Amino acid sequence: MSDTFLGTSSGGGPSESRNCSSLVCDMLADQSLWMVDCAEGTTRQFALQPHYTKPHVRIHYVSKIFITHMHADHIMGIVPFLRNVLLPPPAGHSSHPASSLPKPPKVQIYGPAGLRLFVRQIMKMTLTRTLENYVVHELLTAEDTTTPCDPPSINSASSVAEPNILHCNEVAGQDIYASPDGLWRAIAQGNGKISKIVVDAGPIHHRDPCIGYTFSEIQFPSRKLVILGDTYDPAPILPLCINPPPSLLIHEATDSHISHHADPSGKLSRRTAGEVHQKALSRGHSVPEMAGAFAKQVDAQDLVLNHIGGRFPAPRNPQDRARHKIINDIGKKASEAWGKGRHVAVAYDFLRVNVPFNNVNPTSSLSTLNRHHGQVGVLEAELEVLVAVSVESVEVEASTSNRSARSREDSDITGNKRRRW
Ligand SMILES: [Zn+2]
Ligand SMILES: [Zn+2]
Repeated sequence: MSDTFLGTSSGGGPSESRNCSSLVCDMLADQSLWMVDCAEGTTRQFALQPHYTKPHVRIHYVSKIFITHMHADHIMGIVPFLRNVLLPPPAGHSSHPASSLPKPPKVQIYGPAGLRLFVRQIMKMTLTRTLENYVVHELLTAEDTTTPCDPPSINSASSVAEPNILHCNEVAGQDIYASPDGLWRAIAQGNGKISKIVVDAGPIHHRDPCIGYTFSEIQFPSRKLVILGDTYDPAPILPLCINPPPSLLIHEATDSHISHHADPSGKLSRRTAGEVHQKALSRGHSVPEMAGAFAKQVDAQDLVLNHIGGRFPAPRNPQDRARHKIINDIGKKASEAWGKGRHVAVAYDFLRVNVPFNNVNPTSSLSTLNRHHGQVGVLEAELEVLVAVSVESVEVEASTSNRSARSREDSDITGNKRRRW
């Protein structure tokens, strides 16, 4: 089980080095992919995967999408994605008549109130027709307004003026209400090759309603993947994040104070830690220390920071020491708050991380994360160097000539060959 980050920018993006939020996970080990968030440009990110990330993730294998919240940097890629994956209808093909049974949905989308209406209306307004169908299931609270799924008639199938009527390629979705404890349990599941996977969800505090998702294998030895949307405090989802603890926690860190030693130019280190913290909170976001503190609270085995602010672009090449230093400083701040002395990865586009088995070998975390980047069995004392080298794996092949001594092939846990840098 591994996560591939397709977009790692905060809402200020997309930027020169990062697309906005989206990631996919090969949850079931059967080639299918489950996606979390789908920012503008996500479809193109599938086409831009660098050669060293092989095997590439394939857009047509995405079967479920989990949306964390309705902010534009998380949902504006959904309709372009559906247009691509659901395929255009044959020439002269009209949508399924209202009287016929619709085909089962090829893509199932889960998300907060309003998501169904958003997708439906954009599909209608852009006159999108597809060969395959989709469905939107909404995770609702008692206060939320529902979006009905009235069947289309011949005359009204594409009318934006009738928002309660399904799009012609839409299947009626479920309205899934939270339990009294505020959590959505077992909203989806899948039969993986290794174990059955159960998906739970819970609210997290952001400036608007936001959801975090947990993906749990139920068969021992199990893994649990926790992916949080934008948040300044994920406390409400805490009950889903313990017993067992997350094997991998993906937590946002939109802003960060930068240490003077990591910032020779002095531009980023000008803001004090207190100022940065306050600003992040006021916008509903986290700093690395908050991500590290939550990882400590839930005893996460691995931690990756995501949703990185525009001040902190991903390094462009191995020689881009200035950017490496800044990114390393961000990871180090989370690591210190986490208190395990373990490496914290700061996500960049196309980073792939393994989800480790819980407690099978608790000391292997660092190497597991960096195995994808060719850094196996290195002492934690080399952490700072390691992080820099890890980030370098985003580089293009042209940079290999002067690094050939370090370049060799390695196998990841799935047995796939990947290049080591
Ligand atoms: Zn965001
Ligand atoms: Zn947001």
